[in-house]
Amino acid sequence: MSRIPIVGGNWKCNPAKLAEANALLEAWKAKPFDKEKVEVVIAPTALHLGSVKKTLEGLGMQAAAQNVGKNDMGAFTGEWTATHLTDMEVAWTLIGHSERRSKYGETDDETAVKVEKCQAAGLKVIFCIGEQLEEREAGKTDEVNKRQLAAVLAKITNWDLIVLAYEPVWAIGTGKVATPDQAEETQAAIRAYIKEAVSEEVANKVRIQYGGSVTPENCAELIGKPNIDGFLVGGASLKPSFMDIVTTVG
Ligand code: PEP
Repeated sequence: MSRIPIVGGNWKCNPAKLAEANALLEAWKAKPFDKEKVEVVIAPTALHLGSVKKTLEGLGMQAAAQNVGKNDMGAFTGEWTATHLTDMEVAWTLIGHSERRSKYGETDDETAVKVEKCQAAGLKVIFCIGEQLEEREAGKTDEVNKRQLAAVLAKITNWDLIVLAYEPVWAIGTGKVATPDQAEETQAAIRAYIKEAVSEEVANKVRIQYGGSVTPENCAELIGKPNIDGFLVGGASLKPSFMDIVTTVG
């Protein structure tokens, strides 16, 4: 089965100024890509999201939130819901990014509630999983990925709204990219688990991104692997050369 690759850009808490975000998007304009061959989803800060969404759409890209609340509307200061995102015509959110898990204490159970809310609202999700360095060194990589996935599987009724992102935590923002063989081996195991726990049909169609220090220089070899269906890119998505990653993939 052929899966259309998908490249995500996670801007995290960057850039400092809206003018910088607009200048970056202006630079991307000079490097068009084939929208039939690769899907591109960019997650700016929540504050910049509304403003840059139109420009992203003009470039043939989609906008994503970096996070979504686990509660419904009401007395939850500082939060927003999947319903708010769909009402603002934001089609995507990330859930379970390792920085949300490690710096904000997000649990597997919380990711499950968030996924459930997104399914109910029809919001697409890039669901992030991945092991810490000590877990890899202890041979627990597959166990950790399975645990993080198992927490949410029962909440997913529409797999067309789900993309998985395998992001080994030791590779995020460190410049230590997983080798293509390491990423492929782990992502093949993730797909095998989806086959066993959900179905062969879902395993064949679900797209699995790799994330962790992806750059224009290392992306070609990674995307050559059969179980890598695109990337979730942090630091390198804040540069004009991000488009080189997009055009390498598509
Ligand atoms: C990320 O934040 O999801 C990420 C992969 O970051 P980086 O590309 O900077 O490692």
